[in-house]
Amino acid sequence: MSTPTLTAVLGDITTQRVDAVVNAANTAMRGGGGVDGAIHRAGGPAILADCIRRFPHGLATGDAGWTTGGDLPARWVIQVVGPNYAGGQRDRALLASCYRRALEVADELHAASIAFPLISAGVYAWPKTDAVDAAVTTLRATPTHVRDVRIVAFDAATHRMVEDRLARKEQPRTMDR
Ligand code: ADP
Repeated sequence: MSTPTLTAVLGDITTQRVDAVVNAANTAMRGGGGVDGAIHRAGGPAILADCIRRFPHGLATGDAGWTTGGDLPARWVIQVVGPNYAGGQRDRALLASCYRRALEVADELHAASIAFPLISAGVYAWPKTDAVDAAVTTLRATPTHVRDVRIVAFDAATHRMVEDRLARKEQPRTMDR
């Protein structure tokens, strides 16, 4: 176990050439909008079929599990369910858990590279600066065998925020304390 290389990428997560891409799914695990919709569209019906087979009762908030990557360049999709900030789920530990659990699942799969979206930062409306901080802080603090960890931002402003946060050393967080 060691610390992986953590990089910011601007683009569409569905085109990433990595062993596993992470999907910001929902508890029902039957597809949705945002990055979830993009991954199911690009990966084809094999992903939904695997979701139904492997997650008959869905997945809990903060947890992670894997499915095939279907037609994606990635071999696997690591499905996570972020907390729905807009819906009142504001426990930051659940957001951190998504990143930590996804790396645990990646280790089970012996994945060497993984690409994350900014979990909960879209429809679920987690405040962007804190969503970036939770991603970077947790990914830096979690021991893993994965060598190449990417945070993929879909727009230039968010990408800049991730780059700026990566350039900073760890700082004590004051929020939620
Ligand atoms: P959530 O419901 O967890 O908030 P969303 O899919 O709505 O998930 O958004 C999560 C983040 O993923 C947002 O920052 C959104 O801009 C981004 N996103 C949406 N589509 C893509 C994509 N194809 N590739 C990378 N990031 C994406």
